[in-house]
This record gives sequence, C-alpha cells and structure tokens, in this order.
Amino acid sequence: MSAAIVKAAQFAAEKHKNQRRKDADASPYINHPLALASVLAVEGGIENPDVICAALLHDTIEDTKTTAEELAGIFGDKVTGIVLEVTDDKNLDKAVRKEEQVRHAPHISAEAKLVKLADKICNLRDILANPPADWSADRKREYFDWAARVVAGLRGAHAGLERIFDEIYARHIEFKKSS
Ligand code: NDP
Ligand code: ZN
Repeated sequence: MSAAIVKAAQFAAEKHKNQRRKDADASPYINHPLALASVLAVEGGIENPDVICAALLHDTIEDTKTTAEELAGIFGDKVTGIVLEVTDDKNLDKAVRKEEQVRHAPHISAEAKLVKLADKICNLRDILANPPADWSADRKREYFDWAARVVAGLRGAHAGLERIFDEIYARHIEFKKSS
C-alpha cells in the first residue's frame, strides 16, 4: 500500500467534507472519488499510484478551493498534472465545458484518460442506481449520450474498463421504462 494513496484519500475527504452528491440521499461526496479509485484498482487492475492518487483528487480543484500549487506541494507535479488534465475550466459555460471535454479527450495523457474513463463509469452507475433526485429520463439519457461521446475519444486507454463502460451505457434503455 502506497502512503501517497492514503494521503490522497485523507486530503480529498477533508476537502470534500461539507459536500454531498446530488442523489436523493445526498451521499457524502468522498464516496465518488473512492469509487473511481476502486474502479481503477479493483476492476481495472491498475497499480500506478499516480493514477490512483489523481483519481482520489480529481474533483478537488474543480469543486473545492484547492489550488494546483497546493496539490503540487504535497503530491508532486505528475499527480497534479493529471488532475489538471481532468479539471474543467469553470470560467466557461456549462454547455461549452461539456463540448470541451469531448474535444480534449483524445489529446490528454494515458493516465488522465484512465481517470476520465473511471469518472464516466462512476457517474453513469450513479445515474442508474442513485440518480440526481430531480432528473427526468430525458436528462439522464442526454448525460449518457454525452458521456459516450467523451469516452469515444478515450478509446485505447484500457480495453477492460471500456467494456465496463459499454455495458453500463447499454443499460440506458432502462430509462424508457421509467419515462
Ligand atoms: P450537471 O453537470 O449539473 O450534473 C452532472 C454532474 O454532477 C456529474 O458529471 C457529476 O460530476 C455530478 N454528480 C453529483 N451527484 C451525481 C449523481 N448522483 N449522479 C450523477 N452525477 C452526479 O448536469 P449536466 O451534466 O446535465 O450539465 C448541465 C447541462 O445540462 C447544461 O449544459 C444544460 O444545458 C443541460 N440541462 C439539461 C436539462 C435537461 O432536462 N435535459 C435541464 C437542465 C440543464 P462530478 O463527477 O464532477 O461530481
Ligand atoms: Zn468526478
């Protein structure tokens, strides 16, 4: 077990401590970065500690007051670089940010592709099992289709995780039953 991974989990837990996910139970936010780390390490068999640390930290810059300098001082430039590659520019409109993710996906590093793939797997799983309370079937379907467009640009990163994504994506047919 790498001490850096434990440190990243603790750092993320502290940074996200007052945040909740958007599901009806308002689950603790930290469940989400932990789910990414589990997808990568347990389901994907990925052992690179930089990738696991970056997964644990992936939403700290985007969703908390954490700065890149702060991350770099604790976790180094490599992990910080991966986190920055998966961080949206919050100065842009939501819709533009979503298109930018599609556009950037093929050009990010192999490590960042793994983190982004795990993020999309986890968010689709959440939408199936613990969806944002007020989302219509249409909105869920839109999110699935956007995620698939992002993942199209990540292909070649990890065949096993891509298969897992595809299996979850195929389940969006379920929204038809509930709409
Ligand atoms: P949001 O970006 O508002 O929410 C999705 C994000 O919330 C996920 O990417 C995830 O991000 C986070 N999240 C937190 N909890 C959950 C959960 N339980 N399940 C899944 N994700 C969760 O929504 P959209 O992606 O839809 O972005 C907004 C866009 O939607 C706008 O462009 C707007 O135009 C459009 N829109 C569409 C509507 C419709 O009905 N079709 C209505 C309103 C807006 P993370 O991993 O970073 O935490
Ligand atoms: Zn995320």
